[in-house]
Amino acid sequence: MNQKVLSVIGGGASGLAAAIEAARFSKAKNSNIKIIIYERLPKVGKKILATGNGRCNIMNTSVNKKYYHGDSKLLSSIFENFTIENNIEFFRSMGIYLAEEDDGRLYPLSFQASSVLDALRFEAENLGIEIKCDTKIEKIKRNNNVFILNENIYSDAVIIAGGGKSASVQGSDGSCFDLLSSLGIKIRPTFPSLTGIVLKNKNKALKGVRAAGEIYIVENGTVVASSEGELQYTDYGISGIPAMEVSRAVSEHFALHKKGKIIMAVNSLPDFTPEEIFDYIITRKKQNPNLLCEDLLSGVMPKKLGMAKLSSASISCTARLSTLTKNKIAFLTEIINSEIFEISGALGFDNSQVTAGGADTKLFNQTTLEAKNINGLFACGEVLDIDAVCGGFNLSWAWSSGRCAGTNAIKYLSEK
Ligand SMILES: Cc1cc2nc3c(=O)[nH]c(=O)nc-3n(C[C@H](O)[C@H](O)[C@H](O)COP(=O)(O)OP(=O)(O)OC[C@H]3O[C@@H](n4cnc5c(N)ncnc54)[C@H](O)[C@@H]3O)c2cc1C
Repeated sequence: MNQKVLSVIGGGASGLAAAIEAARFSKAKNSNIKIIIYERLPKVGKKILATGNGRCNIMNTSVNKKYYHGDSKLLSSIFENFTIENNIEFFRSMGIYLAEEDDGRLYPLSFQASSVLDALRFEAENLGIEIKCDTKIEKIKRNNNVFILNENIYSDAVIIAGGGKSASVQGSDGSCFDLLSSLGIKIRPTFPSLTGIVLKNKNKALKGVRAAGEIYIVENGTVVASSEGELQYTDYGISGIPAMEVSRAVSEHFALHKKGKIIMAVNSLPDFTPEEIFDYIITRKKQNPNLLCEDLLSGVMPKKLGMAKLSSASISCTARLSTLTKNKIAFLTEIINSEIFEISGALGFDNSQVTAGGADTKLFNQTTLEAKNINGLFACGEVLDIDAVCGGFNLSWAWSSGRCAGTNAIKYLSEK
């Protein structure tokens, strides 16, 4: 019997999971299938090393479609068959045990992303998966039930796992969108997500300040996204997890050339009501009328941020608290509670963690991830039009969808 070949394009999170699951399933079925990963970079899994600031927020225990954008039926179907518990077991079987932090975030017990990549690489090697690095697949054709990659690589089935366009230095340069498109798969508009927000009226003196805050993105008068947590003020605007989480709405607005106005409102004391902020300032004024305004807010926020709030409220930092009228205090309260910033955009793909948009999931079987009109073609991971918020949800999708594509590619080849 001729040996069949399964090619996996992309050796990132979903491609490695797909190849390993395929090899294990193939071994269990005693099928004679050669599995080859093609990776355009000199090494596989470069992005995995950067995840979770090098600690790899590998999954989340509370995977739920509310944390994802994209086809909710497809998400339910894949996560029902390839659950987080299965994924935990998948990593345990390679010696990777996990630790849980806040909000169901899982990390390898080593808290080192390198241990996750090593485990995947060693298991791929152990299973006899061939890894061809420095090999970018630039062309794909289908002839008589066979796929031809780069004119001279023949394959009986293909899994496209090349990711999106985010962080291209880590390999995902969008080329797999072109491959899928050349086979007639529609690519829905792509734009960067989980990235920083560029503001027009930013205060550059705030660069490097980190402080709690709540942000709202308001598009034509309607709040379209909001998040709370530690904000990081930068020279271009605002970053940190809350900013990253709302960046999708900003990116989408500009990428899709949506009409109208988009602004950001920041509440710098989310645990205080406006009345409490007002009373706090009045009390401070009564207690120490001679205090300089620059020290007014130092007890509730970083001094630089307090000074920026004063400046936005047109209050001099060197004025005494005694000079603050009720009107000025009311205006400062409003600025602290809801300062409005004009947005000029979001940072681009290279600075984003994930790509929104991608291959139209309606064109893929919801249980197998095989293209409906092209037998033997599978896709998984970020190349599909699925993306999520921070917290381990994107990698959860990469593992589950990768394992799904791997298993079903072997089923397809075994029945072919
Ligand atoms: C800095 C950063 C931190 C992140 N942290 C987290 C986190 O902690 N938790 C989390 O859940 N998610 C995180 N993410 C998101 C997560 O890493 C991705 O969603 C996930 O890696 C996507 O997996 P993938 O396999 O689809 O694509 P990728 O991991 O991008 O892998 C695609 C691979 O395919 C290769 N490739 C592309 N095109 C071709 C081609 N034509 N031929 C050959 N090879 C090709 C690429 O070189 C790459 O190795 C982070 C992302 C970034 C950038």
